Amino acid sequence: MKNSFIKSPSVENEEVLLYAPGSKEKDEVLKAYDHLLNTKIDIKLKIDGREIDTKEKNKMSPPHDYKNILGSYSIADKNHVDLAIKSSLTAKEKWNELGFSERASIFLKAAELICGPYRKIINASTMIAQSKTIHQAEIDAACEFADFLRFNVKFAEEIYNEQPISSDGTWNKLSYRPLEGFVYAISPFNFTAIGGNLCAAPALMGNTIVWKPSDYQVFSAKVTMDIFEEAGLPDGVINMIFGDPEMITNQVLSSKEFAGIHFTGSTSVFKNIWRKIGNNINLYKNYPRIVGETGGKDFIMVHPSANVKEVSTAVIRGSFEFQGQKCSAASRVYLPKSIANKVLDIIGNKLSEIKMGPPNDFQNFITAVIHRDAFERLKNAIQDAKSSKDVKVLYGGNCDDSVGYFIEPTVLVTTDPKYITMEKELFGPIVTVYIYDDKDYSKVLKLVDTTSEYALTGAIFAKDRYAIKEALDKLENSAGNFYINDKPSGAVVGQQPFGGARASGTNDKAGSKLNLIRWVSPRLIKEPLLTPKDYKYPFLG
Ligand code: NAD
Repeated sequence: MKNSFIKSPSVENEEVLLYAPGSKEKDEVLKAYDHLLNTKIDIKLKIDGREIDTKEKNKMSPPHDYKNILGSYSIADKNHVDLAIKSSLTAKEKWNELGFSERASIFLKAAELICGPYRKIINASTMIAQSKTIHQAEIDAACEFADFLRFNVKFAEEIYNEQPISSDGTWNKLSYRPLEGFVYAISPFNFTAIGGNLCAAPALMGNTIVWKPSDYQVFSAKVTMDIFEEAGLPDGVINMIFGDPEMITNQVLSSKEFAGIHFTGSTSVFKNIWRKIGNNINLYKNYPRIVGETGGKDFIMVHPSANVKEVSTAVIRGSFEFQGQKCSAASRVYLPKSIANKVLDIIGNKLSEIKMGPPNDFQNFITAVIHRDAFERLKNAIQDAKSSKDVKVLYGGNCDDSVGYFIEPTVLVTTDPKYITMEKELFGPIVTVYIYDDKDYSKVLKLVDTTSEYALTGAIFAKDRYAIKEALDKLENSAGNFYINDKPSGAVVGQQPFGGARASGTNDKAGSKLNLIRWVSPRLIKEPLLTPKDYKYPFLG
């Protein structure tokens, strides 16, 4: 919009609906679930606003009922990738010229659609395709997604308003240009909101996108694209393609117009992509922006002064919600000997109440893990633990893939603080506990810091403030998101900007201004209001 400085609407976090028995929202989401489950869908690539059907297709099925085929989705070849790149480059000029308020309106409208007419659909598709309970779907696909879109507008406005000082007689201006070229977004299976944000955040800043969602999130990614389209996103601004991730990525990275990558997923994949970008560096017009949020081995460190009920609740929620498939899920716990048995007993009692099954039965707290590879990986880790002399399988340990990929919430207790499940990301409902001598609290803090290559999230539980202070200092670099007396998962956009360093990512904090700043290339414009007309400085006189 010309001739005014606009002010974006005020913003608040979307309220999480409860889905209590008899509620309208429960009824609506279950109807949408049944409808989606019983409608076969054929999802196409979306390039330049057009649906593109391909010969080669993959099938989709819910992880909790893998024999039930939901439909299929198209697989891109190299030509489709080139087409998606071309489409994003063609759309770029008009999209950028549209200006901030017009672009922002589209994403704010998308947020309203998510929270209104599409809420039941995006939640139901996330429940079906990613096997989330309604609570997990609601906090992800509805609330976090809408929060990303709304808060990003506020953050973008703050960025655009940041201007340099101008001394007497000059006017200095910063223009926050989008990157030159196109942005490549690659998203993981586990959050519908992340998929949407990885493309929407750079797009809001005037960039155009080639988006490759995870093969295991295609179902809800399609709903995301439908919402963007209904909100008025112009053709070609976000181009969605599916298929062989390696081939698509190689093709994208071989374009000289590649301007940046917005990645969330595992550490090894990200490192591999970084290496490829490095190898191609002479090809590109600019140094590409590389933003990646990756794996974690998130910890709960417990001091003897901690409250045992609070610790056990944090372990159950932090480790087992969404089957431990959050990058922030607690997967290693350090318990002092004096309270370890009490904490473990409470966990055992609570686990005996917990039900596991499909997400449309609202009594289930645990559903299935995402796919067969994950099931096998977790089953093998449990088998190895069962045969290790250093580990005891205290609770759980059963795996059942007769209908879906079900892994029981499992608690391992190890006498070896460097046992493999204390170090490596498993990404499933398995938590490993190490019990230490109370007097070794300070030493164990060092152990927590040095055990794993990751540094995503972590928590300290203690009443003793000196102990909390010591943990804050000694674990300064062990987690990008650090929690005091709270589980280390469940970051809220605008409140707890999210991301970690070391092998956990570039720590560009999704859900904050820091992320958006990566998608602009500022241009400084200086204008003297009275331009000198003589080269001679006074001292020459
Ligand atoms: P993944 O690494 O298997 O896949 C992520 C994306 O990369 C997918 O789109 C996938 O198709 C693509 N990919 C896979 N192999 C590739 C290759 N060789 N080249 C290019 N792209 C490739 O991860 P996932 O299983 O979907 O998600 C789980 C991982 O994501 C965990 O490690 C988790 O910690 C991490 N994660 C991190 C955050 C965070 O904010 N730090 C958030 C969510 C998930």
